[in-house]
Amino acid sequence: MELSLERMIEEWDGLAVVSRHHRPTGAWIFIALHDDALGGPTGGTRIKVYETPADGLRDALRLAEGMTHKWAAIELPFGGGKGVLALGHETSRIEREDLLVCYGHLVNSLRGSFSTGQDLGTTTEDMLLLARHTRFVHGPDAETGRALDPGPYTARAVFAGLLAAVEQVFGSPDLNGRRILVQGVGGVGRPLANQCAGAGADLLLSDLDEQRARSAADELGANIVAPQDVYSTPCDVYAPCALGATLNPATISRLDCRIVAGAANNQLGASGDAELLHERGILYAPDYVINGGGALAFGLKAQGEKNEELIGKRLDGLGGTLAEIFAEARERDESPLHASWRRVERVLARARRS
Ligand code: NAD
Repeated sequence: MELSLERMIEEWDGLAVVSRHHRPTGAWIFIALHDDALGGPTGGTRIKVYETPADGLRDALRLAEGMTHKWAAIELPFGGGKGVLALGHETSRIEREDLLVCYGHLVNSLRGSFSTGQDLGTTTEDMLLLARHTRFVHGPDAETGRALDPGPYTARAVFAGLLAAVEQVFGSPDLNGRRILVQGVGGVGRPLANQCAGAGADLLLSDLDEQRARSAADELGANIVAPQDVYSTPCDVYAPCALGATLNPATISRLDCRIVAGAANNQLGASGDAELLHERGILYAPDYVINGGGALAFGLKAQGEKNEELIGKRLDGLGGTLAEIFAEARERDESPLHASWRRVERVLARARRS
């Protein structure tokens, strides 16, 4: 049974939900503040068409909780939060700008209790527009007046995590000839595909946008997989870099791979699906750890870090974090999700004690 908005908030273990209805577009704005043990709630802003406002709220609550885990996994002093602008229908450019201005004012009214950045459905241009109405936006660079794209940072850390997974399963991180299927060649999937191709992988690409898939495949010498064939195509690594919830009992039973390592948020339909992957001998890189590169880079920049080389090293370091998680999970014969959970709980418990 579908839960009402009130029941969803009652059952949620977060701090608060701030909402506003934007009359001109009919959109609902939800800002979910999940946890502040490590620092102020901070998370991206998603703009998406949802069937009902409740679907948008559900996404905001889940994603905000995911951000709490992500900040703890990468050990940066921020808390879990997320902004969702739930559209009932596609908007015109003017309507969208008006909605973003309204959202910017709402974020600003929270006076730093929530900071945001780019996520699915929002662009660097959107962040520049937001930054004109609130300073609580990560991404726009005050010196250049341009907004940074988190995609390449995220991709770099996903690549490091993918290498750690390949090493755990095959005994070497060498990608030469390893078959890697990237689902979604957008902001993250595309730079990830570049890195995999550069490392000699046998690359397969899939995207709902045929043109996008074709141009990436031509440039990288990759083959294309039709979106409906992704789950049954034999490969070593399936890298979900499109939408979430692609892993569920139906898709997991069809997977013909050894590793799932990709950028998408909330890859598991339900946390129990991690057990199904484990039972099938498929190594799962917990999404909120492997896709933490964008958050890590922007978090470091928000703390004043300007040295790109150092930021790059921290991004590559997420591969080491995942290697530890995989090793612990192998020792206990469990899904890496459990090992990453314990890690997150340790970090949060330490912060709550201090
Ligand atoms: P994007 O919108 O730039 O790219 C997504 C791509 O996936 C698009 O090309 C789209 O056509 C394609 N796609 C959508 N549904 C598909 C399907 N069923 N099959 C094949 N292709 C499909 O998004 P992005 O910024 O690259 O983010 C990708 C995923 O990674 C999202 O789940 C996002 O939440 C997550 N993520 C992104 C970042 C970041 O830095 N951008 C950080 C953390 C997590």
